[in-house]
Amino acid sequence: MLQRRDKVVVVLLASALLGVLLLFSVLGWYLWRESVVAEEARLGDLAQRLGLQAESAIIDARDLLQALNESPFPRCSPEHVSLMQAETFARPHIRAIGFWRAAERLCGTGFAEGAALRPPQASRIYDDGMIAWWPGPDTTVGGIPLFLMRFGNHDMAIDPRQLLSTGPLSNQQVGLWVEGLPMTRIPAAAAVPAPDSLRPGLTVDRARQQVSARFSLGTIFRIDIVAMQPLSEFWDRYLPTLVLAGLLGLVLAGLWVYVVLSFSRRHLSLTAELRNAIERREILVYYQPIVDLATGHCTGAEALARWSRANGDMVSPDVFVPMAEEAGMITELTLAVLELVLRDIGSLLRAHPAIAININLSPQDLESKRLLRALVSGLSEAGLPASAIKLELTERALLDSDLPRRRINELRQLGHAVAIDDFGTGYSSLSYLESFELDILKIDKAFVDTIESHAVSSSVIGHVIEMAKSLQLDIVAEGIESQHQAAWLAAQGVRFGQGYHFSRPLAAEDFSHWLQSQA
Ligand code: C2E
Ligand code: CA
Ligand code: CA
Repeated sequence: MLQRRDKVVVVLLASALLGVLLLFSVLGWYLWRESVVAEEARLGDLAQRLGLQAESAIIDARDLLQALNESPFPRCSPEHVSLMQAETFARPHIRAIGFWRAAERLCGTGFAEGAALRPPQASRIYDDGMIAWWPGPDTTVGGIPLFLMRFGNHDMAIDPRQLLSTGPLSNQQVGLWVEGLPMTRIPAAAAVPAPDSLRPGLTVDRARQQVSARFSLGTIFRIDIVAMQPLSEFWDRYLPTLVLAGLLGLVLAGLWVYVVLSFSRRHLSLTAELRNAIERREILVYYQPIVDLATGHCTGAEALARWSRANGDMVSPDVFVPMAEEAGMITELTLAVLELVLRDIGSLLRAHPAIAININLSPQDLESKRLLRALVSGLSEAGLPASAIKLELTERALLDSDLPRRRINELRQLGHAVAIDDFGTGYSSLSYLESFELDILKIDKAFVDTIESHAVSSSVIGHVIEMAKSLQLDIVAEGIESQHQAAWLAAQGVRFGQGYHFSRPLAAEDFSHWLQSQA
């Protein structure tokens, strides 16, 4: 029993822990997913915004060069120069604009005079006439490598750092590539991977705990933006939530284990209390008369156990009989009932040899010979014949046929009558019951209940009575509550009856008085 409880406790604890773990990991996984999705979206947005911004700056630069080419002012006139000035000032990323004729930059704004920025060889010449110089030592002014674009007669120098106006970045790093060449990084020391090493869109690198976004465009030049950020923020952001959820889960699991444990402890202590009650004979036996329906004479009584607890509560046998069966102490109870019957009404039985007491047995009572021995010794001590005690068995006791069959035969050989209780509620077939040697058959109250006060007959109980008759046994109808039911049953040939109509179960003394009042 204790071993079984230990097992239950272990299983409970394990399943509670497993539940918490499962809860924790589902929550963790969910938050992780949510967080990754949120970071991906944030980074993806950043890369896209910067890419579009760089692209539009370059398209704008090309359009500006074209507009200057087409401007009506005489070349290098004050109007022409001030136009170039105004356009330069209007754009933070444009450092200088110049006007060329043949191999000379004639005038402009931002370019130093004389040995002005004139890198020897263009990096690239495009079909549409655009010429580009990538930032490098040849294009460096004041320590900043500039990006040069020439279209028609005008050229300009662009500060690539100004192509990315990121605003404040928390822990993101961004890089800009034009035609696959690195233009700029923010912050300057950022270790952003080259776009060719990434697929477009988002890449989550779990090993390095970082997420990168690549965004690419190519209206004039191929532009790639790579943005990157660590995933480490995840724990910073969600650890408190996860810890809280874990604690809550543990508290709930603890509560659950506590509830189940205290419940099983209470159940166990009730079982222990019942064991004590049986040992100390704190069980009471009530007697419910069984009468001959034709004459109204009492022919016996059924012994029904009652448990009167120390606090005065009366516990129903429907509660404690299953408890005793489960705890393996039902035979102790049966022996206690037998002992109490012989002690309480032994003399009454000696004075009325025609009266017999029915004792209820559980399937387990048939497993050993203890009951048989107790019957023999108890009856001989009390100076009573075996016919004074009848035994009631339910169909449940007959399911395993060999042992019950042997025991029933032994009981009958001793001189006890054996009754099949609650007849009609089990599933045994008539022929199966026929194979047992029985004496009495008790029709269950459920069938008697169907005898309505005015209805002629109920076909079900009629059928049950026919079955009972075909087994050629004495029939006792249980739970008779009205004169009508008693009369109807008698008319159907049922010989005996028991029920509140005749008497409720009575304490020994009351049963004795009742018997005298009948005489
Ligand atoms: P059971 O053997 O079918 O006993 C008949 C039950 O029906 C008893 O309930 C009795 O009080 C009740 N009863 C009798 N006449 C009427 C009636 O006219 N109307 C109504 N409504 N009820 C009636 P009780 O005493 O509560 O016993 C319940 C069950 O507990 C019994 O059913 C029996 O199976 C079991 N039991 C009682 N004492 C013992 C015992 O000593 N040993 C074992 N193994 N089982 C017992
Ligand atoms: Ca019974
Ligand atoms: Ca019964």
